[in-house]
Parts: sequence; C-alpha cells; structure tokens
Amino acid sequence: MMFRNSIYKTPEQLRLMVEPGLATAASLKAARAQIVAGATTLDIDKAAEAAIIAYGGASNFKLVPGYRHTICASVNDEVVHGIPTTRALEAGDIVSIDSGAIIGGWNGDSAITVVIPGGDAAESKRRTELSNVTEGSLWAGIARLAKAKHLNEVGDAIQTYIETEGARVGQNYGILTEYIGHGIGKTMHEEPPVFNYRVRQKGPEVKPGLVIAIEPMVVMNSPETYVKADEWTVATTDGGAASHWEHSVAVHADGIWVLTAEDGGAAGLAPFGVTPTPIR
Ligand code: MG
Ligand code: MG
Repeated sequence: MMFRNSIYKTPEQLRLMVEPGLATAASLKAARAQIVAGATTLDIDKAAEAAIIAYGGASNFKLVPGYRHTICASVNDEVVHGIPTTRALEAGDIVSIDSGAIIGGWNGDSAITVVIPGGDAAESKRRTELSNVTEGSLWAGIARLAKAKHLNEVGDAIQTYIETEGARVGQNYGILTEYIGHGIGKTMHEEPPVFNYRVRQKGPEVKPGLVIAIEPMVVMNSPETYVKADEWTVATTDGGAASHWEHSVAVHADGIWVLTAEDGGAAGLAPFGVTPTPIR
C-alpha cells in the first residue's frame, strides 16, 4: 500500500502537536478525578471541558458533526462513542473516557478506562484485569513503534500482549476489529489506519514525522458489537464488559514521544525498556 508523503509531519509541525497533547492529558486527569460512584458522565464531561479551556484549547470532539460533548463516556458493555448522560455511575462500573483537544489547529486524542471500586468482588477483579491488559497492550504497541520498521508491527505487538496476558488470567479476550486507530494532525482522524491487531499488510514505513493514535478496544469475550438506538454508542452484543485505552504518539528524529502523556510515556514504556525522547 502506498501512502502520500504528507502522512509525515515536519519537525515544526511535531512541535505544534505538543500543546494539544498536554491539554488532552489534562482533560483526562480532570475526568479521572470525577469517575466515582454517584457522579454522572455529564459531570465528567464538564470537568474535562474546563481543563481543556484552562489550557487554552477547545474540545475537538465538539467539531465532529452532530456531536455536542467534550468526551465520549462508555460504561460497562459500551466500548466506545458513548454519550455523556445524567445516569449516576455505580460501584463496580467500568468506565472508558475518550477526550481530545485542539490548539492552534492541531489535535490530541486519548482515552482511559477506570473501574469504580466496590461492587461484586470477583467481577470487579475481572474488569480491573481487562483494563490493565488493555492499557498494557497499548504500551506494548507504543514500545514496538519505537523499534518498528513498518507501522503494522504495532498491531502485532498489541494482539500478542493481549493473547499472552489473557491466557495468564484465564480469559479469552476479544479485540475489536471494526474500529481502529488513526493518524492525527490538523484533523483528529487522518491517514494512516492504525490496526490494534495483526494484519497481513506491513503498513507505511515508521520514520520521523509519523503521528498516530493507537487505541486498543478490548472486551471480556466476543468482539461482536452493535450500535445502540442513540446511533453513537458502540456496545458488545453479548453484554460483556469493555475497555478502551488510547494515546497520540509522535515518531521524531530523536525517538518517540507520547504526546498525550504528561511524562511523554516514560512510566508506561519503562517495563518495555523504552525511553521516550522529548520533541525539541
Ligand atoms: Mg479517542
Ligand atoms: Mg482516536
């Protein structure tokens, strides 16, 4: 497959993506603090938006035609694209928050999953494992990107991690294939496609200027999904719990940098022996 050379950003463009990445990280930090029993996903939405505005940015989700919120909030069987509501969150809920900021015309995009303490102990443990494995698979994918020749090695690393960890905890996790990651820059979603699973094609060359959002969506059992009546929310057909983790990551002349992590990904990448390098 051939990709236009324009999928690779210039060093100056990479520098412009640092601020929206940090604003996105700030919005998820604010959101995380609100993910408690009794809060509503609309409360979380407000907190995320305030953080982006405090950073001098704007929500890029609000630029998506027909979407009115700063975040997507996907609870329990919902995987992605959930709309914030007035329903109170409960102990044991597994909550995925996806957020993005735009500053100076450049975008960030990131997602986290949190399991609210309490609820059924065994199910809560299973949901926490699901979120941990999903997050770990994201870092495994980012770590592979640091050494990859071609982009689709990332999906191989993600799937391998999920299969290995799933076997360890005795769970046959499903990886969504209908929804994937993407290039990111002047628009939130652009070329190239970023697969969170193994594919035949090698994908574009990994070289300085590549900026991608990697976002594994992992579910307890079957990866089959449907879209709810609100025409946005993607949920598992079997009702199993779901997790979604995402970071926007830049490949540059000196290495890689996780734009949507405050520390550039240092903590998440340490277990994989990869050290991120700031964009100068
Ligand atoms: Mg996202
Ligand atoms: Mg994304």
